[in-house]
Amino acid sequence: ASQQDLIAEYEKTGTLSALPLGHFIDGAFSQPSHNRTMESFDPGKGTAFARFTAGTSEDVDAAVLSSRKAFETVWRDMAPIERARILQKTAELILTNLDLLAVVESLDSGKPLQEAIGDVRGAARTFEYYAGACDKLQGDSFPLAGDYIGYSIHEPVGVTAHIIPWNFPISTAARGFAPALAAGCTVVAKPAEQTPFTALLLAKILSDAGLPDGVCNVVTGTGAETGAPLTQHQGVDHITFTGSVQTGKSVMKAAADDVTRVVLELGGKSPVVVLADCDKEQALNGVMGAIFENAGQICSAGSRLVIEKSIHEEFVSELVKRTKALKIGHGLSQPELGPVNSAEHLEKIAGFIDRAKDRGARIAFGGNVTTDPATGKGWFFEPTIVDAVPAKDELAQEEIFGPVLTVQVADDADQALELANDCQYGLVAGIYTSNFAKAHQLARKIDAGQIYINEYFAGGIEVPFGGNKKSGFGREKGIEGLKSYCKTKSIAAKIS
Ligand code: NAD
Repeated sequence: ASQQDLIAEYEKTGTLSALPLGHFIDGAFSQPSHNRTMESFDPGKGTAFARFTAGTSEDVDAAVLSSRKAFETVWRDMAPIERARILQKTAELILTNLDLLAVVESLDSGKPLQEAIGDVRGAARTFEYYAGACDKLQGDSFPLAGDYIGYSIHEPVGVTAHIIPWNFPISTAARGFAPALAAGCTVVAKPAEQTPFTALLLAKILSDAGLPDGVCNVVTGTGAETGAPLTQHQGVDHITFTGSVQTGKSVMKAAADDVTRVVLELGGKSPVVVLADCDKEQALNGVMGAIFENAGQICSAGSRLVIEKSIHEEFVSELVKRTKALKIGHGLSQPELGPVNSAEHLEKIAGFIDRAKDRGARIAFGGNVTTDPATGKGWFFEPTIVDAVPAKDELAQEEIFGPVLTVQVADDADQALELANDCQYGLVAGIYTSNFAKAHQLARKIDAGQIYINEYFAGGIEVPFGGNKKSGFGREKGIEGLKSYCKTKSIAAKIS
């Protein structure tokens, strides 16, 4: 069905017939005998639109067992080029199913449809990239004395668990599944209970592309009832967790119990440093996108504008003008700013701003809970700019995960660097300047996993991604992301 048909179906019936029910285990959707389900909500309306299976630890057991068997009997030893063909076919089928995946993603997460389309295209690109990497996972040889030979090989780690958050459901699934599968690992995924559907649809697409049964299993349900049993499971060899710091810590503890490998992709409070010599138009566009894309619910959102004093007033007043003009609406109406993901999350965002108001914060624009102007419904927060926030203020230190930009004023580039680094997180930093040397000096000195110069969110699947400090550790994307799913084995032999 086309985008228009799917939207028409949703408007008429309040749901979509293409949404699967049940876990995806052993190559098929199946509803377990306990028959427990829970609701998924449309954040743009604040109402439920579908049900999905609320998994249990028994369901997790079944999925891990299936992945273990598939690892040992079929996937681990398949020729890399065969794996590559399946991943390449998956990339193609994702694009064939673009309309369905994007409409489901927008409906489930609330994000604007055009952003969901970008995410789905990105997921296809991720599979294409790792398809090309399958047969290039080369080892090394080592220079030993003449009567020895030494070399290394990269072996798949085994069964990998993927815990996925609600803000980028299909992107996060793809960036975990594709390299894991390319390396020869099998997958058990637990999508967020707010957004379960695109991970399930992706598992079905992989199966349609020829992935053997059991190589990719998806179990839905809550963090406590399915996420925790999965991360504690002794049959899991590696965990990729993407989510909050708080949950990340408990996942790390669970991993420690069994000495399981873990990659943690956690939160952020990323600075965008704008220096007086920047290209203003480029910087304004960058700062707007960095905080209002996906209503600021991005781990790498540029949520702190660190601006040089001499251009502060002029820059912020232009930002306010543009922020005022943003079109708010339901994700499927293609707005510039969509809702936030849940009522609970909306309350959390509002709490930050209410406390800031009590402290006498300078709200330059926004700051209130609102609704879709077309329907009076949904979980929306006004796009918000808070000016001249002190470095130690909660708004400059804590991740809000909403459309709230905190402005911090710096005397010069040195103080901008200090402010940029004065934070518990270290995921991303943006830099806007026309001075090449200054840009790269700052890039070296800012403590973050990735630096974007003169374009926020620059780079793609080719570039490694991950956090420093409380933003986590380990890297996804790029060849480094592929190596996360490998164990290096070195072999040395005496040959004389
Ligand atoms: P969350 O930690 O509440 O949930 C993330 C996932 O963990 C969900 O699937 C949830 O069901 C599961 N979970 C919850 N408790 C669990 C437990 N005890 N054991 C195992 N799994 C459990 O996070 P969230 O609110 O869904 O996501 C938002 C957070 O994710 C933000 O902090 C954001 O910055 C972060 N994030 C980071 C990245 C990154 O790449 N660094 C990307 C996206 C989101």
